[in-house]
Amino acid sequence: MRCFLGLCLPDPILDQLDRLQDEIPVGRRVPSENLHITLSFLDDQPDELLEALHQALCQFRAPQLRLELRGLRVMGGKSPRVLCAEVTPDASLSQLQSCLRSLVQVSGIALPRARFRPHVTLARFAPRLQPGQQQRIEKALLQYGGFTSPVFAVPEITLFGSTLLPDGARYEVLAQYPLGAEPS
Ligand code: ATP
Ligand code: MG
Repeated sequence: MRCFLGLCLPDPILDQLDRLQDEIPVGRRVPSENLHITLSFLDDQPDELLEALHQALCQFRAPQLRLELRGLRVMGGKSPRVLCAEVTPDASLSQLQSCLRSLVQVSGIALPRARFRPHVTLARFAPRLQPGQQQRIEKALLQYGGFTSPVFAVPEITLFGSTLLPDGARYEVLAQYPLGAEPS
């Protein structure tokens, strides 16, 4: 199954992002139920490896996170692929991501080398931008680049399943692992 580890966002933050998306009508909007922070993209994995990872995650402990979103950016190198809200750099988040990375690899799932740049994807762009779209994106970055969310608590890590459908990905929560608590 195609999976990733990530973080869900609390309702007040989803509401704020929803309003921000209303203000920035560029690209294909990511629906509210799909907004998340990816920690580790696992890709397609056999059930046995996911079960091994699940067992390891059930034993895993890490402190609860307090995060903030700050600023917008376009990602995708030369041609913009996505518009994102950035997560304010946070040592606990970086540490969590790197621990999870090791745990995933110890469970037998290979991960490509990649820099961790935590973000929430708000909109996706087609491979070739429509006329005028570049300007609208630049205007949005200027106008809303100073956006900041309130600080919010993240009480758990989520293992998501992702099914790619013609009109976009559909995510399902496969399991959640509490942060800041002793595993039961
Ligand atoms: P779609 O691929 O249809 O645009 P999606 O990107 O939301 O939808 P997935 O491709 O399953 O769905 O990705 C799930 C999450 O993992 C997303 O946050 C995506 O940005 C991230 N992701 C996907 N591929 C990678 C990758 N190769 N490296 C890092 N993160 C990835
Ligand atoms: Mg994708």
